[in-house]
Amino acid sequence: MYVKLHSDYAANAMAREAAEIIKSCVHCGFCNATCPTYQEYFDERDGPRGRIYLIKSMLESARAGEATRTHLDRCLTCRACETTCPSGVRYGRLVDIGREIMEERAQRPILQKIQRRIARIFFPYPRRVGFLLRAGRIFRRLLPAELKRQIPPRQTVAVPSDESNAAGRKMLVLGGCVQAAATPATNAAARRVLRRLGIDLVEAPSAGCCGAVSYHLAARAEALEFVRNNVDAWWPHIESGAEAIVSTASGCGVMIADYGEILKNDSAYAYKARRVSELAKDLSTVLEDEDLSQFLASTDQQVTAVHCPCTLSHGQKREGSVERILARVGIPLVATAEGHLCCGSAGTYSLFQPETSARLLDRKLAALTAGDPEQIVTANVGCQLHLASRSDVPVKHWIELLDY
Ligand code: SF4
Ligand code: SF4
Repeated sequence: MYVKLHSDYAANAMAREAAEIIKSCVHCGFCNATCPTYQEYFDERDGPRGRIYLIKSMLESARAGEATRTHLDRCLTCRACETTCPSGVRYGRLVDIGREIMEERAQRPILQKIQRRIARIFFPYPRRVGFLLRAGRIFRRLLPAELKRQIPPRQTVAVPSDESNAAGRKMLVLGGCVQAAATPATNAAARRVLRRLGIDLVEAPSAGCCGAVSYHLAARAEALEFVRNNVDAWWPHIESGAEAIVSTASGCGVMIADYGEILKNDSAYAYKARRVSELAKDLSTVLEDEDLSQFLASTDQQVTAVHCPCTLSHGQKREGSVERILARVGIPLVATAEGHLCCGSAGTYSLFQPETSARLLDRKLAALTAGDPEQIVTANVGCQLHLASRSDVPVKHWIELLDY
């Protein structure tokens, strides 16, 4: 698809990058077959090809209206379309650029602006998320049923000792924001499991949110502050030999893997950010390379369904990694249909698109529970909380199954 950039964008590097990405689209429409929103609405503008046309039109006319905002907002950024696309269209990057340009061109209603600002004020900070969760639990009885379901029960966590292991292998781990407050058992389990393999997981105290919340809400400058802060926090550890930067939430992992691309034009950070991206690993990638024989499960394990987050399967191209690990240690798994479809969590999507999100959640839970599993596991805190909000069976992070 050829894009004739509007004169306003002729010298705009982001717009030129978007035009290059659009050029690689041959408008075959294969991507619609795996797009969750197209599968729900069957409207061309709710599929990747239609959204690409909307972005192209915005770049050519320097105008964007309510329809463009509605259909770009409804995209989950799940990147299932990237996995399907035969032409290698980098849709995830394109929609991020499209949204940034759209925010400048299409006036958002004031209520939406406030909601998005509130999300950016709270979610990247674990203490603020913790405060919201505590308040939610105290006033649970007063909340509407839908909101009540979103508040997870408090997890009590045995803190792993600070003693380091003799083997001396060291990896960095992102403490995270929502996960640190809502599901602290995940990182505690990861620490214990990796320690049994002779690896210390180290958290850099000044590292914070990966930046994904701001980045996907089109607040690029704010996101870059989080990104640079993390690069600075990790760099001394990288110089002293940290082998990897491990993410226990795949949503953060895919963002960190992109740091090199995001900061490629920042001369002060480009090299360091590229190195950070090279070292970024999902927890499943780390464990797949290790001898897991000491984790062999007893025969009375619960039958488990695995939900592979989009950020792991489409974002990091690691589909099936969790299933392979659980199968290696003897956890009985049930097959599930529609693994390529998003559960509807998608960062802040469930807050801003509740109707579509709920439709996708019902569809996903039906697929996951069709084989009567006793539990569901996943690899991303957002999916975990979202699935748990309506699931009749417990939902956990998969690493908890190896930590017994
Ligand atoms: S599958 Fe790829 S090339 Fe085909 S329409 Fe979708 S994005 Fe374009
Ligand atoms: S990112 Fe997901 S929701 Fe958005 S267009 Fe691609 S497949 Fe559809």
